Amino acid sequence: MVSDLLNTRKTGWDTNRVNAWIHHEDVDKVLSIKICPGAEKDLLGWHYTKEGIYTVKSAYWLATHLPSEQQIRSTPGANDLKAQVWRINTAPKLKHFLWKLLSGALATKANLVYRHMSNQPLCCYCCSNVETTCHLFFDCVMAQAVWRGSGFPLASLTDPNISLEEKIKAIMTCNTSTRFSHLRHFPLWILWRLWISRNILCFQRRSTSWRKIIRQARDDAQEWQDQERHTEDMRGSRAHTPSETRSESRWEPPNQHWIKCNYDGTYSNGRISQAGWVIRNDRGTYLGAGQAKGNQTRNVVESEFQALIMAMQHCWIKGYNRQENGGQGLQRVNSHGVDVGTTSLQIF
Ligand SMILES: [Zn+2]
Repeated sequence: MVSDLLNTRKTGWDTNRVNAWIHHEDVDKVLSIKICPGAEKDLLGWHYTKEGIYTVKSAYWLATHLPSEQQIRSTPGANDLKAQVWRINTAPKLKHFLWKLLSGALATKANLVYRHMSNQPLCCYCCSNVETTCHLFFDCVMAQAVWRGSGFPLASLTDPNISLEEKIKAIMTCNTSTRFSHLRHFPLWILWRLWISRNILCFQRRSTSWRKIIRQARDDAQEWQDQERHTEDMRGSRAHTPSETRSESRWEPPNQHWIKCNYDGTYSNGRISQAGWVIRNDRGTYLGAGQAKGNQTRNVVESEFQALIMAMQHCWIKGYNRQENGGQGLQRVNSHGVDVGTTSLQIF
């Protein structure tokens, strides 16, 4: 311990001990370190970070830089393919899922048996083959039915002679390929839905048909694509908004003794539009909020109007019956077509 090298009053080094216990090359370096008068107990330090605090990153560095006989085994799967996973355009949960799939880290029956956590290796779907990752997602009769039924134009996915990594690589290539731009999210969501329905079957004893898996995956992919397009439109709108206009998005208080209701509506093609609103007074104090599901709308403007009506009804019920539309939102919708930015009402 460091404290054993200090003098009895703990105000400096005990040079005899330092000379006796420390390698002679390091003695001068140790003696040049000043002793802090307020120093307390010795603490264990981790020498692979500047702060002396353990981090997983530094431990990984250490594990991969140890002499070869002590090196840890890297996780299964091609590292370059796993690195590509983080660069594909999809939901973060799918990236994480795909990385686990490629690393052999999904809790498939075969992996659980390998880790002595189970003695049941058979696939939940067909009950006749070991549930390896490749079997579950590509070789099982259920997976084959899903891939064939999806109409996805890659015969390699159902070819048992092609490796798991090659199949995943093909799916990831589709994600960036312009040739399959309309389908680029679909196969990733099929993998996800196969895994979810497998878990429902294993743990809840409820089966999902291959048609339903395809339908759910298609809905997921469509929703993700709509959301992506919407985000791009929003970014485009902001990029073209002059800075003085953008400053309007900061909340401004209403006139004295009035309250302000900020409202907003969601728009997603083919889905029910939802609305939310928050009421504050002229000092910015929160007075209440609400949210509601409305009808399906045909465009952003309809969603905004529906949100406005629901917010007005809510305010009316609460006894605020003199209302004035702030107008900012409508102006923004008209100029950019898709922006569903915050709109506001002034109420008395
Ligand atoms: Zn199976």
